[in-house]
Amino acid sequence: MPASSPPRWWQARRAQNRKPATYRCPLCGELLPALSEHMLIVPEGDSSRRRHAHTECVLRARRAGLLPTREEWERSQSGRERRPRLWSRVRAMLRR
Ligand SMILES: [Zn+2]
Repeated sequence: MPASSPPRWWQARRAQNRKPATYRCPLCGELLPALSEHMLIVPEGDSSRRRHAHTECVLRARRAGLLPTREEWERSQSGRERRPRLWSRVRAMLRR
């Protein structure tokens, strides 16, 4: 998968940062002091691409369906994938 393609799902967890740095929240574009309570959002579990974001922004984006978890993404895919898989199983049975 090319690095430029948008992540299909995200992990979000509380950030535990003891480093006095300042980040920019990718969701609202505002500054985010690392020592304040905030969250990490990790695209497809790839921690090298994790971003620091305001807890409030993450919760708002989650409510808007913008940061689906892996589970939610897989559930949204299953309707599309179940059919071909079922058919290939049926065909395999008929061949026996
Ligand atoms: Zn923000």
